[in-house]
Amino acid sequence: MPVTPAQASTIYRQILDVIASVEPRIAAATAQELADQRASLKLIASENYASLPTLLTMGTWLSDKYAEGTIGHRFYAGCRNIDTVEAVAAEHAEALFGADHAYVQPHSGIDANLVAYWAILSQRVESPTLKRLEAKTVNDLSEADWEALRHEFNQQRVMGMSLDAGGHLTHGFRHNISGKMFQQKAYGTSADSGLVDYDALRATAKEFRPLIIVAGYSAYPRRINFAKMREIADEVGATLFVDMAHFAGLVAGKVFTGDENPVPFAHIVASTTHKSLRGPRGGFVLTSHEYADAVDHGCPMVLGGPLGHVMAAKAVAFAEARQPEFVTYAHQVAANAQALATGLTSRGLKLITGGTDNHLALIDVTDLGLTGRQAESALLDAGIVTNRNSIPRDPNGAWYTSGIRIGTPALTTRGFTESDFDEVADLIATVLKATSPTGTAKGASKAKYEIVDGVAAGVKARAAELLNANPLYPGLDLN
Ligand SMILES: *Cc1c(COP(=O)(O)O)cnc(C)c1O
Repeated sequence: MPVTPAQASTIYRQILDVIASVEPRIAAATAQELADQRASLKLIASENYASLPTLLTMGTWLSDKYAEGTIGHRFYAGCRNIDTVEAVAAEHAEALFGADHAYVQPHSGIDANLVAYWAILSQRVESPTLKRLEAKTVNDLSEADWEALRHEFNQQRVMGMSLDAGGHLTHGFRHNISGKMFQQKAYGTSADSGLVDYDALRATAKEFRPLIIVAGYSAYPRRINFAKMREIADEVGATLFVDMAHFAGLVAGKVFTGDENPVPFAHIVASTTHKSLRGPRGGFVLTSHEYADAVDHGCPMVLGGPLGHVMAAKAVAFAEARQPEFVTYAHQVAANAQALATGLTSRGLKLITGGTDNHLALIDVTDLGLTGRQAESALLDAGIVTNRNSIPRDPNGAWYTSGIRIGTPALTTRGFTESDFDEVADLIATVLKATSPTGTAKGASKAKYEIVDGVAAGVKARAAELLNANPLYPGLDLN
């Protein structure tokens, strides 16, 4: 164990004392957050618990350095240690995922996606204006030149999974700049099976002729065949961009192999580091050599100066993910999702696609007469943290929704196994079956609900037993 409980307790007590000497409210909120995390049954599919070495790595003076540019080629002096940090993080990411090139500067998943979009645009979009202007310097550009440049990079086409099938805002939807940069056409899932309909996707792609096909999701409970995705992309001359933000841990942990491993098939892969991958909050991009140079222009094209302390923590988390224990963890995440899904369906709950084969599941609460909003609130009353989510062709829209998204990475990190998740399924089913919508003076409400007396408290007590048996950061004591 790299940090003993006694060491960790001493370190964090001292850190909190130091913080408290400047701003006690921040020390108190930091301590309270640990207590809250420990006391809740966290089923948010996008969250996890980073290791103490990963967390500790973020608290240093590496944060103080400006290092715009790339390894060995910085726009600031004195970057040799940041060079080391970035190179080690990239080396681990390349080895972990078997990629030609890793770019570890992105500050978040959205930023990683912007880097990928920029790289694809700069590689793929022919710019006659740029060609014509090659000999000129920036200062020589006329207003008309700038106008032409803007147009040439505008109005490219992208296809991404529809939001209600589980896609992400950054895949060309409004409320995100990708929806303003690109003309977008969504692909959905089959109404019968709930699975990605590759034939329909191919037909749409042939008609729409996108520059980019995005594969990836935040709420789709199944695996994607990336070999098939690449085949379709090749047929229509599109770049295959895989956003593995959610499932990077399952790729790193070798649950997704063969056609389900995006790295050999995608032109570009972008990801977060903090979801199933269990690293610090951040992002990264993997590419073949073809896009490496374009990706390395992420800063300053769409990113500010890299966060040295976070890149250092990414290196630590990637190094951890290369250990055999991570493979065990990732397979447990998937096995736990199976147990959770089976536990829910055997208790009569309905899941989108009937189950899961990744780390998440989507409960359809329409048959219970509830909205996602009511179900989410009722579960929270019982100490179960989930989030409401649209389901395909959702009758309640994107705000109230009809689904509850749940995932297993965080509780798996705490040590939960299949039998624990069967109990979790029972807790969820117990709460949802005891919940009913209540009306307002004006009629039915999509937000108000009531739970049969005593059920929430009973479930909370049973959840506490599970949580106590699987402690978060075991032995870490702040008092
Ligand atoms: C979470 C997520 C993102 C965004 O990650 P942030 O770090 O929150 O910016 C992007 N794409 C997908 C598919 C995601 O699930």
